[in-house]
Amino acid sequence: MDRRDFLKILGLFALSPKKIYAQKIKSKEAVIIGAGIIGCSIAYELSKRGVKVTLIDKNSPGSACSGSSFSWINATYPKKPYSYNLFSQLGINAFHLMQRELSLDIKWNGSLEWSTTMKDQEKLIESVNELQNYPKYTPTSVIDHKKAKKLEPHINFRGNENIIFSKADGAMNPKNAISKMIDVIKKNGGSVLYPCKFEKIIESSDSFSKIKTSMGILKSENVIFCNGVDVNNSFNVNFLKKPRPGVIIKTEPQKNLINSVVYGPKIHAHQQSNGQIIIGEQITAPIKENTKDHIKRINKHFKSMVKSGTDLNPSEVLIGWRPIPKDDLPIIGKFKNKSIYIAVMHSGISLAAIVGNLVSQEIVDEVDSLLLKDFRPSRFF
Ligand SMILES: Cc1cc2nc3c(=O)[nH]c(=O)nc-3n(C[C@H](O)[C@H](O)[C@H](O)COP(=O)(O)OP(=O)(O)OC[C@H]3O[C@@H](n4cnc5c(N)ncnc54)[C@H](O)[C@@H]3O)c2cc1C
Repeated sequence: MDRRDFLKILGLFALSPKKIYAQKIKSKEAVIIGAGIIGCSIAYELSKRGVKVTLIDKNSPGSACSGSSFSWINATYPKKPYSYNLFSQLGINAFHLMQRELSLDIKWNGSLEWSTTMKDQEKLIESVNELQNYPKYTPTSVIDHKKAKKLEPHINFRGNENIIFSKADGAMNPKNAISKMIDVIKKNGGSVLYPCKFEKIIESSDSFSKIKTSMGILKSENVIFCNGVDVNNSFNVNFLKKPRPGVIIKTEPQKNLINSVVYGPKIHAHQQSNGQIIIGEQITAPIKENTKDHIKRINKHFKSMVKSGTDLNPSEVLIGWRPIPKDDLPIIGKFKNKSIYIAVMHSGISLAAIVGNLVSQEIVDEVDSLLLKDFRPSRFF
């Protein structure tokens, strides 16, 4: 699907502009708070459409969750209800287009997921059946270890007969994507300011908001909050669960061992085109343990999952804090008045490209996207 067809389809899900009479076109502007993958994708799409953007971050771009993410792009079985799953499916399409535009480093070799106990395998298969009852779903099948071995010769599947193969999935390098988006934002005349911390809203109405930042006062007709786990503090609201930490290990580049995303019983891993292996864990990070303990624990699981895997040679050991909305669904839309917009979610890597597309459409064309109907902040109050 090319970009024009994709945008046409997204347009079909947009409700008509509120003003149908001829308008004097004036150029728009937006301040985006938070330069993670979500803030950058929104700022990137807005800048492409001629909006004068100012993107700020209290630390540096990609320094929070997006830089410590496992970075798997998927629309698979835990994503319920259907509206969320469909949104994630469109997220995959949107990333293919963004990859072409920005030459992003994304490997589309699918994912393989398996469990050791029969009970867990049955649960996985049940989830696949549930997914396949949706009107539209990403291709997902159950394969045995012999077929899986052809895809991943170095992975130890231990004779498993029930491996879930989701062939549309991908894995990306978010820091690389963030840096490429920022280059385009600047080329399009946008400003990227950091360290620049949002401190408080001074004044806000439907037509503009004025905010205080560590670099001074900013005023805009659109202030878009993409500040992940910090969104609750910004508004003194309770939109998010207590953030859940996860350990991510990035290795030094090494020979090719993993082609797809492999999601085994204890850990999951993928290998980027630069040879770095990215490893995450199913458990919530035991944050009381130190870096050495994390490496020791994960190394043991890695060597049991990857046959010719030698000891891990980590280049980074990171703890990422997930922004998880109270009901697990994305929070995207206007909040309080028309000049304040929020975009915060888990699975923000999978959704970044589609979120950038739809939010820019809502802001520039002044439409409401039906695809975002179930994700509005208003559901919380
Ligand atoms: C271990 C782990 C594994 C994950 N795996 C996956 C996965 O495989 N697939 C997937 O889709 N998702 C995954 N996620 C979730 C995903 O990474 C996040 O949903 C996504 O990165 C959120 O992006 P964001 O831009 O909203 O937030 P962030 O990346 O956290 O960016 C928010 C930015 O806002 C800035 N900020 C905060 N407060 C202020 C302020 N007051 N003023 C200015 N700036 C501010 C921060 O500095 C930060 O840079 C994972 C997360 C973790 C932790």
